Amino acid sequence: ATPVIGGHRGALTPVSFELFPPRTDAAALALGRTIDRLAEANPAFLSVTYGAGGSSRERSLTVLRYILEHTTVDAMAHLTCVGSSYQEANSLVRQFLDAGITSFLALRGDPPTGVTGPAELGDLGSASELVQLIHRVQEEREPFSQERVPGAPQGTRIARRRRPERVAVAAFPNGHPRARGTNADIDSLLAKQVAGATLAITQLFFHADDYLGFVDKARTAGVTIDIVPGLMPATSPRRLARIAELTGEEVPAELAIALEVEPDEQGQHEIGVGYIARVAAEVLAGGAPGLHLYTFNQHRAVLGVLEQLGRMPVGAGSSR
Ligand code: FAD
Repeated sequence: ATPVIGGHRGALTPVSFELFPPRTDAAALALGRTIDRLAEANPAFLSVTYGAGGSSRERSLTVLRYILEHTTVDAMAHLTCVGSSYQEANSLVRQFLDAGITSFLALRGDPPTGVTGPAELGDLGSASELVQLIHRVQEEREPFSQERVPGAPQGTRIARRRRPERVAVAAFPNGHPRARGTNADIDSLLAKQVAGATLAITQLFFHADDYLGFVDKARTAGVTIDIVPGLMPATSPRRLARIAELTGEEVPAELAIALEVEPDEQGQHEIGVGYIARVAAEVLAGGAPGLHLYTFNQHRAVLGVLEQLGRMPVGAGSSR
């Protein structure tokens, strides 16, 4: 049986998963099955990435609609604002709200390589401005909801200011690759909180201390919102190299070597899952409010991590 790693809230640990919009019909079909399997873990939400410059807008929406229509899980839309005019960003937010999305991950996004001029970067300079815009558009569109008053006579309603379900933002425990200094990432997270962010999700990392140290510094600086650790099991040497390339994060030598010397694919899978399950147990024991797992659109490895944490029954990470 899979050993269960202790020191955390086991079955109650809140989790969420990240997906990206598929490029082919075959990948879309496979993603539908992945979503159904991930939904069995009863996650707080499934988030769907957004291609730089809006390249995936329709494909992202298709995945988000699938989640809303086929599961009872909340769907979170990543949105980026780099390169957009204020008007374009406004209508983007409106389009997603119209599709029924009420949870967002507000990002600045990366400008295309070589683009540096303020005109090309667009009207919104940072993710905090997009956070503000999401709140503003929601309020303009539908400022109040009519809510039942518990215990009051039937039909009694009060008008409550409508807020998006969640407005999440990114945080960088090991620093954003282009941060100006060590405190820039904390300052930027604080600015996002002031703008109205309700939770932060971190860039992936490989050492629990990276996350725990960052949270400590953020709390000292006045950040009070939940900072959810983002983790991704690297289940092959190729996957680990790709993660390093995409995020700029330094990969641990012991994990790279262990994956490299293991000849068997199943053995590599177990090494990657086991490594991240241990990091997850450490951050949860250190007070992390939950886990956000990057899936690479595959359920096996992330459900395997939850299985090792005792958050899912044994066999959840099978290839069924
Ligand atoms: P910001 O937080 O606005 O800026 C990034 C960093 O720049 C800050 O942390 C800070 O160090 C520095 N900075 C910004 N403003 C200031 C300032 N005023 N003063 C000093 N320093 C400043 N990209 C996509 O294209 N699509 C996605 O779906 C996507 N999803 C992501 C999900 C997560 C959880 C994470 C962590 C990243 C994701 N990204 C995605 C990548 C992200 O778009 C890039 O990291 C981008 O370079 C920065 O976006 P941001 O929202 O972090 O920007």
